[in-house]
Amino acid sequence: MSRDLANHIRGEDLPPASGNWLENLEPATGAVIGRVPDSGEKDIARAVAAAGQAQPDWAARPVAERARLLEGLADYIAAHADWLAGLESADTGKPLALARDVDMARAEANLRFFAGAVTHWSGQSHDMGSAGLNYSQTTPLGVVACITPWNLPLYLLTWKIAPALAAGNTVVAKPSELTPSTASALARAATETGFPPGVFNLVHGAGPTAGQALVDHPDIRGISFTGGTVTGRNLARNAAGRLVRLSLELGGKNPAVVFDDADPDKVAEGLVRAGFTNQGQVCLCSSRILIHESIYSAVRDRLAQRVGDLKVGDPRSPDTDQGALVSAAHREKVLGYIDQARRDGGRILCGGEPVQPPGRCENGWFVSPAVIEDLPADSRVIAEEIFGPVVTLQPFADEDQAIELANQTEYGLAATVWTKDLNRAHRVAGRLEAGIVWVNGWLVRDLRTPFGGMKASGVGREGGFRSLEFFTETRNVCIVYD
Ligand code: NAD
Repeated sequence: MSRDLANHIRGEDLPPASGNWLENLEPATGAVIGRVPDSGEKDIARAVAAAGQAQPDWAARPVAERARLLEGLADYIAAHADWLAGLESADTGKPLALARDVDMARAEANLRFFAGAVTHWSGQSHDMGSAGLNYSQTTPLGVVACITPWNLPLYLLTWKIAPALAAGNTVVAKPSELTPSTASALARAATETGFPPGVFNLVHGAGPTAGQALVDHPDIRGISFTGGTVTGRNLARNAAGRLVRLSLELGGKNPAVVFDDADPDKVAEGLVRAGFTNQGQVCLCSSRILIHESIYSAVRDRLAQRVGDLKVGDPRSPDTDQGALVSAAHREKVLGYIDQARRDGGRILCGGEPVQPPGRCENGWFVSPAVIEDLPADSRVIAEEIFGPVVTLQPFADEDQAIELANQTEYGLAATVWTKDLNRAHRVAGRLEAGIVWVNGWLVRDLRTPFGGMKASGVGREGGFRSLEFFTETRNVCIVYD
């Protein structure tokens, strides 16, 4: 069934001002499943104006009321999780079960978390004795932009809009043009569940047009962006001119460091999840697996066996482990890296081939998950973010070499360490250039913790009160006693 999506501005569904549309394609079949507004400056101007008008009233509402509305939106997601998961799976190609159990569960949790966080958030006071007293006031930034990628559409959109709205801002959001459907559903749901018109606005469209117009708009006071490092760099360059508040969550090329005391079976099981969840299209996925030479072959063989057993196929099928990649272009990019690995002398232990599942999905964009070893350390396949179902293996001799290899990247988002030695775990975690380190696990999340990357993986941290601080200005008031 083909459907046209709409921008959602001032509580109303609107077509793009230009009358132009983009196609929404289903990765699992290659078929057109709808049209997405190809928005531009006019749509953005309309949305920013609506958000600007709604902002003073929204900011003046009691915190408890804003929290209640966020809870209501969370209830909507919970009540419509199966339907929303179907939209998400169709847009992204990810297995339906993953969309329901991870994406929808987390979208709901994000809204509930920030509804709670804002009601527990407090200011500071600094007593100067007989001289006076300082206290802090926080005020929302105003109208903010939330820009999100295609890999975790509703999960990341709610992660941004929830703290922005909780803190009293109004929002203009621009989701990825590749995965627009759940964002449209969310924007409509916000209006249905009682958010005042103009508080949460959504504009669809391509990055260089709709996205660029949004970040360039002079009335935007904060930009929260998650996406690729190249886009983030350009955005930072532009934002510098206006000195607008900016949060950047960017790419990664995350190491997993496996020490000699780790259990090869448990590690292999953990690495399948860390490397291949969502077809390896999670910014946090472990894509460079570093293994101590004494257990290298034991871990390699178990990992290759398990990855080779993953079932690639229709995302709707309950026994599918790996769905489709998000676009034909992305599949070509991933296959290009696998060809590069062959040219660089790499040995492909499993996968790395285009797959055409029979039936409904025979024209979809599938690639079998790949494990590659024997690449030279300077291979592009090891250095660059592939963002697909591909991991590389490298042996190391000792802890220093492991850390040197782990940090040998422009990125610094996440790392995993696999060891039973607690002393070593703490020591190594403290030397890894990564904003997030998991020891003996992956993607175990507590939403209060700092989330973000070092180096080319981003600027700033999200999570807990940090997200609320990002979306507010702080003012110190000093009362001088006379
Ligand atoms: P992308 O940078 O191409 O696009 C991200 C968003 O930015 C999209 O909505 C896009 O339309 C928009 N955009 C593109 N050009 C723009 C411009 N000039 N001005 C304003 N907006 C613009 O990224 P993608 O391909 O959608 O996502 C994949 C990338 O996202 C990967 O690099 C991945 O690692 C990263 N990512 C990072 C995190 C994190 O938390 N660090 C999470 C998920 C994904």
